[in-house]
Amino acid sequence: MQELWVYDSEIWHQIEEVGAGSVVGMVKRGIIPKPESNFLKVRCSKCSNEQIIFERCSTVVKCTVCDETLAEPSGGRASVKGEVIQILS
Ligand SMILES: [Zn+2]
Repeated sequence: MQELWVYDSEIWHQIEEVGAGSVVGMVKRGIIPKPESNFLKVRCSKCSNEQIIFERCSTVVKCTVCDETLAEPSGGRASVKGEVIQILS
């Protein structure tokens, strides 16, 4: 699984395997602390798959369906290539 998180806390490295969607749920249930950055729901421009990504990705985030690039790291905030349809905070 690719690394999705830029976060000092070890917790992000521990949970990166479960995916951003599960992480949002864990934040809502208070299992893990809310990060300072937002999660973004992004629609893939190629296959319309909707995927939740972290605003501060450290590596390129690809669509889980068609492998299209959804976001690239860009000096802190991700440069989103798809369409941002919702900001989850
Ligand atoms: Zn796609």
